[in-house]
Amino acid sequence: MRIAMIGTGYVGLVSGACFSDFGHDVVCVDKDQAKIDALHRNVMPIYEPGLDVLVASNVRAGRLTFTTDLKSAVDGADAVFIAVGTPSRRGDGHADLSYVYAATREIAQAITGPIVVVTKSTVPVGTGDEVERIIHEERPGTTVAVVSNPEFLREGAAIDDFKRPDRVVVGINDDERAREVMSEIYRPLYLNSSPLLFTSRRTSELIKYAANAFLATKITFINEIADLCEAVGADVKDVSRGIGLDNRIGSKFLHAGPGYGGSCFPKDTLALLQTGGDNETPLRIVEAVVQVNDARKRAMGRKVIKAMGGDVRGKTVGLLGLTFKPNTDDMRDAPSLAIIQALQDAGAVVKAHDPEGVEQAKRIVKDVEFVDSPYVAADGADALVIVTEWDAYRALDLRRIAGTLKTPILVDLRNVYPKAEVKRAGLTLTQVGRV
Ligand code: NAD
Repeated sequence: MRIAMIGTGYVGLVSGACFSDFGHDVVCVDKDQAKIDALHRNVMPIYEPGLDVLVASNVRAGRLTFTTDLKSAVDGADAVFIAVGTPSRRGDGHADLSYVYAATREIAQAITGPIVVVTKSTVPVGTGDEVERIIHEERPGTTVAVVSNPEFLREGAAIDDFKRPDRVVVGINDDERAREVMSEIYRPLYLNSSPLLFTSRRTSELIKYAANAFLATKITFINEIADLCEAVGADVKDVSRGIGLDNRIGSKFLHAGPGYGGSCFPKDTLALLQTGGDNETPLRIVEAVVQVNDARKRAMGRKVIKAMGGDVRGKTVGLLGLTFKPNTDDMRDAPSLAIIQALQDAGAVVKAHDPEGVEQAKRIVKDVEFVDSPYVAADGADALVIVTEWDAYRALDLRRIAGTLKTPILVDLRNVYPKAEVKRAGLTLTQVGRV
């Protein structure tokens, strides 16, 4: 199959590289010349484990190319995937579909024969209808099928998720040719049975939002239970295990922490609320999840301040981990941003370490000193805070840290360290949902 992938971000680049690894001919398109130039030098515009090797081998095999020229990529393709960003629209939380519609118009102008247009971007219910309408408006009489194929990969484990998905959702409204093309594109995934779930286009669009809202709800639920654990002297790690072993509940997404962040859950929950509102169907659970999570991110700053005695004016806080989760450089809506803001507002000085996120963080936060080792973050600080559970922070020399901190305070917002170990090292410990 010949595939054009529009957008070489976290989703487009991984999807394009994996499709080419399946044996398809893939052209990845981005309007950002710097990204395409970097890819031509095999420099990845994002950090995703294993992506550089996957890209290099498929480029060498001649199956994967990069261009800024959308027209040439779409010309002769069997399918064109739209994988551009759909951020929150400023002010109202609706998904900003301007990139999707702009790409659609460009695609419409570039179509030269029958083609399947696939929205991989996360888009609200009804977007596929609008994409189809735009194409017919731009190019009346074109033979085109518009398909929804939302992506469920997780940053940090994206290649594995793409190649071994729990399911691939494909939304098509009665178009046998489009179904054949999509089946053929994903055929390399079939071992014993196909992971493809065919639905209507609107259903497929909604599945993506329902999945993200459900996962956000699970995280938010355990975070509230963590607060209750602190109040009643229970241990949230044991509660998570105790409920997660029940197959009906499942153990994933039950880790208490500083609240969900990242490029998907915050914007997708907001967009789902807008869809509910537009259709006079209030989604009160999701509403509560959004509010609780927002409040939680701010509360984490207060938690650190409380652990430091209540007054942090002129004090220094060392932060470990800035990205919203490990193994990515993505800083979008990371809980660290709210924590930094709360600490700075209270008069603290922040120095921070992150294995991959510093470059993006520098563009977002001000007056933070970035250091290149967790030990330097601790050196001379009045407290050390683990915000993101990178592997690099899981086996720190806690005695060394206790020795270099001005006051031996560790705030572990990811419950990485056992209390006894921290105590032995001479540190006082504040955790989440454990006393
Ligand atoms: P991103 O911001 O990393 O990448 C988007 C890319 O599209 C950018 O490089 C941008 O330059 C490019 N682009 C925009 N308009 C273009 C155009 N007209 N022509 C060519 N290139 C264009 O975004 P992302 O994180 O990859 O997310 C893409 C979509 O996938 C979003 O809808 C997101 O919600 C969804 N999604 C993301 C994840 C994730 O983990 N990041 C997971 C599942 C789904």
